[in-house]
Amino acid sequence: MRPILMLWDIDGTLLSCRTGVASLQRALLNGFGVLDDLSRMDLAGRPDTAIAEEIAARHPGHGIDPWELLENYLVELEAMLPSREGIVFPGVREILNWSHEHPEVHNALLTGNIERGAYLKLKRFDLDRFFEFGAFGDDSSDRNRLGPVALDRARARLKKDFALERTWVIGDTPRDIACARALGCKALAVATGSHPVESLMEADLALRDLSDHCAVIRAIERSAEEEALAT
Ligand SMILES: [Mg+2]
Repeated sequence: MRPILMLWDIDGTLLSCRTGVASLQRALLNGFGVLDDLSRMDLAGRPDTAIAEEIAARHPGHGIDPWELLENYLVELEAMLPSREGIVFPGVREILNWSHEHPEVHNALLTGNIERGAYLKLKRFDLDRFFEFGAFGDDSSDRNRLGPVALDRARARLKKDFALERTWVIGDTPRDIACARALGCKALAVATGSHPVESLMEADLALRDLSDHCAVIRAIERSAEEEALAT
C-alpha cells in the first residue's frame, strides 16, 4: 500500500489533559498580575500563539508579551499536568498502535499547541513516542497555514510522497476541518472535544468518537485504495 499520513490535533482529539486553560490562567496571574478566567474567549482549535496575542490585546497596559506569556504557561503546564486526571479518548491508542505496526502509515501532529506544550501533554499520557514531528502553534498563529508545514516536514523527514488523498487531518472542531480543506486533504472529525458531531458534518468522516477504531482504520485504508485505483 502507498503511504498514508495522519495529521493529529491534540486537545479534544487525542486527549483531554484538563490543564491547558488553567495553566494559561495561572501564567497570566502569576506572570502579569492579570485575573481573567478566559471564559469569554473562543479557544478551541486556535493556535496558542493566536490566543496569547488576543490575551495581550484584551489587557493593554499590563505589558503582556505573548511569547513571555507562553513561556510562563509552559512552566505552569508542566507543574499542573501530573496532578490532573485527564483522559486519552477511546480508540486513540488502538489506532496509533495499528499505525505503528504498518510501516506505510505515518503519524504527525497538526496542532495549535506550541511544540513544547504539545510534547508535555503527550508525554503525560505516554503518547509522545508516536509523534516524531509535526506543525505547531509556533509555526504560525494562522491554523490554516499549519497543514502545508506539516506535509512539507513529512515529505522531507520520511522521504516519501504523501498524496493529499491519502493525507488525513484528524481534529475535533470546524477549524480542523477548515485546516484540512485549506491543505486539500481528507478530514476526519470527532466530537470528543467541544463541538457536537452535528457541527462537524462537513468532514469526510464525522464520528462521535474513535471507539469503533476498526471502522476508522477501514475508512482510511479504503481512501488509500480508491486513490490507488483512480491513478
Ligand atoms: Mg482540538
